[in-house]
Amino acid sequence: MTNPAPDTALDLDACRAAYADLKALGLHLDLTRGKPSAEQLDLSDGMLSLPGSGVVKDAHGTDVRNYGGLEGLPAIREIFAELLGVPAAQLLAQGNASLTLMYDTLAYAMLFGVPGSPRPWSREETVKFICPVPGYDRHFAVTRELGIEMITVPMTPDGPDVEAIARLVADDPQIKGVWVVPTYANPDGSTVTTEVAHRLVSMPTAAPDFRIMWDNAYALHHLTDEQTPSADAIGLAAEAGNPDRVIMYASTSKITFAGAGVSFLGSSPANIAWYTKHLGIQSIGPDKINQLRHILFFGDADGVRAHMRRHRDILAPKFAAVEDVLSARLGGLGIASWTTPKGGYFVSLDVVPGAAARVVELAKEAGVALTPAGATYPHGDPLDRNIRLAPSMPPLEEVRSAMDAVATCVLLAAAEAAAAV
Ligand code: PMP
Repeated sequence: MTNPAPDTALDLDACRAAYADLKALGLHLDLTRGKPSAEQLDLSDGMLSLPGSGVVKDAHGTDVRNYGGLEGLPAIREIFAELLGVPAAQLLAQGNASLTLMYDTLAYAMLFGVPGSPRPWSREETVKFICPVPGYDRHFAVTRELGIEMITVPMTPDGPDVEAIARLVADDPQIKGVWVVPTYANPDGSTVTTEVAHRLVSMPTAAPDFRIMWDNAYALHHLTDEQTPSADAIGLAAEAGNPDRVIMYASTSKITFAGAGVSFLGSSPANIAWYTKHLGIQSIGPDKINQLRHILFFGDADGVRAHMRRHRDILAPKFAAVEDVLSARLGGLGIASWTTPKGGYFVSLDVVPGAAARVVELAKEAGVALTPAGATYPHGDPLDRNIRLAPSMPPLEEVRSAMDAVATCVLLAAAEAAAAV
């Protein structure tokens, strides 16, 4: 894997030959979704025997087998309040998926409105949301499902383009919110700076009930010693006089078990009261046995931090492999750029405009499944340029083979595009 000279690297015949060799390998590799690997899941296997026979109460004497405790067990709220930087009283601990909490927030908003709404959102003629791109496809799916129009703004290395957002929301009362993945964003790995967070929570909005869906899914998922902290959006919003603007989400999906974790919703006291009012009609309480299992497994916030270091030991070499292979095969050719994230689960790869779908197609034919091109945009990628790479799931050697395959496909697609001009 040496770096070829630009003129030979994009020779169409040579690229076709390399691709034919790749196909002959008969690979079966999958980089489609940011799932934890089996090795990562094994880190939490100690939880499978918790709480243990006869352990039925938490530290406050609550019998976790019974109904009740709508807000979640106090100890799990305290541990994650410390980790997420929000008072425990303003943090709910719920079921296994933060995506459910996000969906329910918007569903409640459509049905009933949020604190400060003149009427339920569904009674507005039109409801719009800002979607920074590239972004998380499931956010877009929730928004679409609920009939909310999506307006895109670009991501920057400091988070969403906040000036573009501020301009849009200043005049349009139909814009009710924005999606933000503040730390190690899916897919570009960027982190919202305190300055950007401050601007987001203090900018004037024409809608009196504007909400920031602050999805801090990767707050604790560092890949380096830098351990980029998340901006305290909830605190900053309160200081700015807009305490109800931010609703934060997180979960242990990529800390313990992706199908059986604990989710969290943090916000202002008014938003928490609003959410629990509707939640209390929908549910008599969350799965407290699973919450107790998590409390006993971690002990405290430091237990979670130590556990995340073990994830990092498994993940960091995979991200390093992506970087190594992409720079060795594609570096300096001017046909691709990619992110080098300091945390999270994704690498965002930009290829020559018009070639992303072709790269994904070529990779598929060679046995390498990638996230469909355009999935990171609500209405497809207008430049057909962005590909999300998810290296967490396959073993390290497979990540290397998959990235080598992707590089071969990127080169062939670029050579084809150049030949077509
Ligand atoms: N938010 C983001 C940004 C994600 O990338 C993911 C998982 N891919 C989720 C939420 C899903 O979280 P959960 O499992 O808690 O529903």
